Amino acid sequence: MEYENATFVDTTDVAQLTAAIRPNTKLIWIETPSNPMLRITDLKAVATLARSQKILTLCDNTLCTAVLQKPLRHGIDMVMYSTTKYIAGHSDIVGGALLADAANPILEEARLLQQRGGGGGIPSPFDCWLTLRGIATLPLRIRAQSASAMQIAQFLVMHPSVETVLYPGLTSHPNYELAAMQMKMFSGLISFLVRGSNDDAMRVAAQTQIFTRATSLGGTHSLIEHRASTEGEGTKTPQNLLRLSIGLENVSDLIVDLTRALNPSKA
Ligand SMILES: *Cc1c(COP(=O)(O)O)cnc(C)c1O
Repeated sequence: MEYENATFVDTTDVAQLTAAIRPNTKLIWIETPSNPMLRITDLKAVATLARSQKILTLCDNTLCTAVLQKPLRHGIDMVMYSTTKYIAGHSDIVGGALLADAANPILEEARLLQQRGGGGGIPSPFDCWLTLRGIATLPLRIRAQSASAMQIAQFLVMHPSVETVLYPGLTSHPNYELAAMQMKMFSGLISFLVRGSNDDAMRVAAQTQIFTRATSLGGTHSLIEHRASTEGEGTKTPQNLLRLSIGLENVSDLIVDLTRALNPSKA
């Protein structure tokens, strides 16, 4: 895909990324694991490539937070967060953060744009307070959510109504070894393909009782989402893909809920 100011490329393939660099490229923007396919980009390889060409790098680290993955340690220049998700962690604020360990022109430009005169959104004091309060439990929450997600991914892999499970913590994931190297745990997000059509996936999403059918992720309550519907027409997301955000409920209850939704005849 080519736009005036951006080239879209599969960053899991460093050769493709290298080929996409243009003489005026200023920034390489990556997201790992990617949403919703949960593919893994090699942080160190991207940082090394970009530094050799004097290009800045930014990693959207929303799905991991620094508890699970530290892009700056691998040489990435900037980290972006939707604090709406794991950082605040309770699905009750909308916010974001951009971090770097050294000044750079893009960070400075973003800082100026974010100031009130530049039209940036300013969080309310209450939203800031909720975010700080959320951060106090972030490490405990995201580790518990990752541990439950691993168990649920292993449950889904064995289920006859499931075609494929996309979770970087499974040894069957194509980038498992890279994920294990650069992530401490594998986050609370799981995508899976339901055996069958769009309708079959929609039916599963409609049958859960503990999982709430909603977008967003990283909160205390588990969510299930038919991702292609959210993305709308022209999406490349498979029509039979469901995305789970694992919350803090009892993992056995979550597995019972999915079992029921996947086998409606036995409900
Ligand atoms: C949700 C999300 C965003 C956007 O954040 P908002 O706070 O909803 O604006 C960006 N990146 C990732 C990976 C996300 O999950």
